[in-house]
Amino acid sequence: MNILTLPPEVTLYSSMSNSTKYVFVTGGVTSSLGKGIISASLAKLLQARGYSTTIQKLDPYINIDPGTLNPYEHGECFVTDDGAETDLDLGHYERFLNVPTSQANNVTTGRIYQSVINKERRGEFLGKTVQVIPHITDEIKERIQLLGKEGTYDIVITEIGGTVGDIESLPYVEAVRQLKWEFEEDCLVIHLTLVPYLAAAGELKTKPTQHSVKQLLELGVQPDILCCRTEHELDLTLRRKIAKFCNVNMNAVIESRDAESIYDVPLLMQAEELDKVVLEKLNLTSKSIPDLDNWKSFLTRLKNPESEVNIALVGKYVELKDSYKSISESFIHAGVANNCKVNVKWIHSEKITPNNVDTELAGLDGILVAPGFGSRGISGKIETVKFARENNIPFLGICLGMQCAVIEFARNVLGKAEAHTTEISENCKYPVIDMMSEQKNISNLGGTMRLGAYKCQLSPGSNVFKAYNSDKISERHRHRYEFNNDFLEEFEANGMKATGKNPETGLVEVVEIENHPWFVGAQFHPEYKSTVANPHPLFVGFIAAALENKA
Ligand code: GLN
Repeated sequence: MNILTLPPEVTLYSSMSNSTKYVFVTGGVTSSLGKGIISASLAKLLQARGYSTTIQKLDPYINIDPGTLNPYEHGECFVTDDGAETDLDLGHYERFLNVPTSQANNVTTGRIYQSVINKERRGEFLGKTVQVIPHITDEIKERIQLLGKEGTYDIVITEIGGTVGDIESLPYVEAVRQLKWEFEEDCLVIHLTLVPYLAAAGELKTKPTQHSVKQLLELGVQPDILCCRTEHELDLTLRRKIAKFCNVNMNAVIESRDAESIYDVPLLMQAEELDKVVLEKLNLTSKSIPDLDNWKSFLTRLKNPESEVNIALVGKYVELKDSYKSISESFIHAGVANNCKVNVKWIHSEKITPNNVDTELAGLDGILVAPGFGSRGISGKIETVKFARENNIPFLGICLGMQCAVIEFARNVLGKAEAHTTEISENCKYPVIDMMSEQKNISNLGGTMRLGAYKCQLSPGSNVFKAYNSDKISERHRHRYEFNNDFLEEFEANGMKATGKNPETGLVEVVEIENHPWFVGAQFHPEYKSTVANPHPLFVGFIAAALENKA
């Protein structure tokens, strides 16, 4: 067809914009092989060589975003500065790269379809039959190239969620096939597989990897690099075998052994020369030797702590630790910053009662009450706050945790036994946590949330001010309810101060108790901004206070 007669709905990919290179990461054999960590580790190595790199996650589920998902499904929902509710892998990307991600870094099948259907309703397809190929695949290709088009990145790594062979992953693999065909030298596929150890045979087995690559080949995609998850060493014979059966070079068979810490993985991948192989295949001449000095010193300190502290994490999803991924990683970063190991005791808030709170929380140096939604486990959280307040134990309450601190203070210090949040008790007598009036008319789930980065002004002399060493900060939010300013005067007169406020709206973002060694409730989520390079000041301050308490 002559180019001039192409119908307007056919997107023309004139070139993979200003020579941005694209690396696709697919997974085979099983889920949970750690594609996110491998992607983040490769990105770290490329970044350390001077390439500006970003990572994108494509999720094959039909939800528009993970915002409506129960944390038991896929773990925590990570929030970006621009207010996108995203997959928790974006948290790993930020923690490794120390570069913020955005909505463009996470795309779901739901969003792809929503966008195509909206275009169809607007008549943009001019009467054509709208199909998976080309319309859905074009939309996917466009989303992949969006980050490259901004011109900010030399390399975009795109992680395809799910496992090759899943029905729902098919359009994504097809989009990768097309991009690889169109822009061969600018694209590369890394396939992550499992090489299981059969104890009875005493052997590592390569057949699942061979089959998984065959499955990709059936879909028209030849992987360039195989990353093989294994519990044992992948010797030369095995590497040769995998290379031969899967049409890849020997040096492109990468061993990915289980690591002590996820932060070891970039160095393990460097030892396997994953970054070198990637650069060679993309025809990029390495700008420099990776500068990983800071990363290595982080690891040295992580592995050689001088002391330890015991912290309680009280929440209602503690059975699935991924539900609090960013919080537990923030503890690791803050521990390193304080040269100590942070032992986290995961406590189910539903289990805590006035009768057992002192035994459940005995011997802990600090207490964190986690974010959450709904009434399950709320009384245990409020009981926990009371214990931390009365026993002068360093306390950090995040979002719902902060709201529980406010409710507890109203009930037990201000004597308002019927104080609550209207999220749980709509008509309570003292709605100390309430929805703002402008939100009340919007009833769609998600529609009323305050999401993303907001500025906050801190009071000089407060614990938060000391932690940040600044009075102006910006933090990410994800909540619907707020401190009710009608009660602020009474709280402040009795010792709970609003030490952080939104400078534009006056909303209370931080509360502290003045005659307590370290009691901070934050309406925002500090955990989303803690990285290896920049451990979050509030977590660092909290761990420092816990260490002091221990001493
Ligand atoms: N459920 C509370 C609200 O919506 C807190 C949310 C949270 O902890 N992320 O305001």
